[in-house]
Amino acid sequence: MFAAIRSPRARPIRAAIVPAEARYLELSNDTQDDLYDITIIGGGPTGQYAAYYSGLRGMRTKVIESQPTLGGQVTALYPEKDIFDVPGFRKVAAKELVRNLTDQMMQYHPTLALNEQIVDLCPGDVITLKSRTGAQHRTKSVLIACGVGAFTPRKLPVKGVAELEGKGVLYYISQPMDFVGKRILVVGGGDSAFDFTLGLHGVAQSIIQIHRTDKFRAHEETVCAVKALKIPVMTFTEMKEVHGTDKVEGVTIFDNRTTEETYYPCDVVLLSLGFLSNLGPVKEWGLEIVGNAIGVNQRMETNIPGVFAAGDIVDYPGKLKLIATGFAEAAIAVNHAKAYVDPSSKAFPGHSSEKPTSAAH
Ligand SMILES: Cc1cc2nc3c(=O)[nH]c(=O)nc-3n(C[C@H](O)[C@H](O)[C@H](O)COP(=O)(O)OP(=O)(O)OC[C@H]3O[C@@H](n4cnc5c(N)ncnc54)[C@H](O)[C@@H]3O)c2cc1C
Repeated sequence: MFAAIRSPRARPIRAAIVPAEARYLELSNDTQDDLYDITIIGGGPTGQYAAYYSGLRGMRTKVIESQPTLGGQVTALYPEKDIFDVPGFRKVAAKELVRNLTDQMMQYHPTLALNEQIVDLCPGDVITLKSRTGAQHRTKSVLIACGVGAFTPRKLPVKGVAELEGKGVLYYISQPMDFVGKRILVVGGGDSAFDFTLGLHGVAQSIIQIHRTDKFRAHEETVCAVKALKIPVMTFTEMKEVHGTDKVEGVTIFDNRTTEETYYPCDVVLLSLGFLSNLGPVKEWGLEIVGNAIGVNQRMETNIPGVFAAGDIVDYPGKLKLIATGFAEAAIAVNHAKAYVDPSSKAFPGHSSEKPTSAAH
């Protein structure tokens, strides 16, 4: 037995960590006897769209996500960013995209198991997925949509960072309003660092951004926007130490050309140095691994019968890691999973526009 979250009846749960869109979900106990047509590992955009599609195909669906929230990288890394290359939107706020994906997939009431990391996959006619907590999930097919795998922020080996992690040393933010009136130091020169700086401008009491060179990896437009707001961006500057006992009180930064040191009092050190990703346990599941990704054929099948993969976790010649490609791969994978689970059904379902209005409820 394990805790899962199942729709549809109303009962608010874990409001602080479950996305607002999932407020109508309720906790329930799944049992070892439950058998799903498809289990989707990963609740990022690819997994979410796949869950919608499997619902559309009438498949009994479960989504398992290791994080407490849906949305994958979009929620974890850039919820406040605008996205410009999702079809049908001139631009869409990242968190709004996740909200819409959640709304779309929840039409079909998939079972959700959040905060549950899958560590093992045992092939067979019935495939068993084992989670870190020891729970077992039984399913006829699997879609692996684990993205870049478990991702961890790149750390900085500087005195005080490890000790004050979570006490003012942070790696990303999800709610800018948590930083009202704070003095913030942003470290990094990529898109996320500049986005954080922009997002916190007008909210924080003060912000400075430091970067070890004068070359930025961020879009020029974002860099220009930060400069136009006259937010100090100190180049050739690195962090030497974070000070504080129970919380961050300040940092020592230095000019890496002159070694001149400066003390900067602050409440938050936001380290935006990129992420290290690791497929971790996925590599042990007997799948064909290509580089740091899973190899698939044109039906998004892996080398294990009944196991499909889509999104950032797959690789093939010409692969682009984009939300749009993940959506397309999810549709391909789910339709072929449907034909795998029910050989009498077709992989091509016909057009959704030909179905009766509001097939779901
Ligand atoms: C800063 C930034 C900006 C970006 N901007 C854009 C953009 O403008 N346009 C665009 O198209 N793309 C953009 N991307 C890329 C886009 O976010 C990814 O292509 C997309 O998120 C991939 O979706 P996914 O669902 O395949 O994987 P992910 O979003 O990585 O989701 C995978 C999910 O699987 C979960 N998971 C992993 N392992 C397990 C496990 N063992 N058990 C259970 N759950 C597991 C993870 O926790 C995660 O939630 C950007 C990426 C970043 C970092």
